Amino acid sequence: MSEKLLWLDGNALAGLLYESFGAEMTAAVRRCQSCGTQSELGAHRAYWGAGAVLRCPVCGDIGLRIGILPGRNVIHLAGEWTFESQRP
Ligand SMILES: [Zn+2]
Repeated sequence: MSEKLLWLDGNALAGLLYESFGAEMTAAVRRCQSCGTQSELGAHRAYWGAGAVLRCPVCGDIGLRIGILPGRNVIHLAGEWTFESQRP
């Protein structure tokens, strides 16, 4: 099995990201802590398992981990994130 078959693009996590942050997040920009690349979350590599992981599309370092537990999501962020949220 090739590595390409193991991951999807970050847009595959759009629903989980919305649920976790309360906003559309696929256009949010993350600057990688390892290689410095800035890219939208939708361009990251998405992996599903017991939870979800987004990895840098250039170096593969982890940018986001979401643990999915009963009644809550546990979120770990890495790198520098920039996104906007609506004010009420
Ligand atoms: Zn990187």
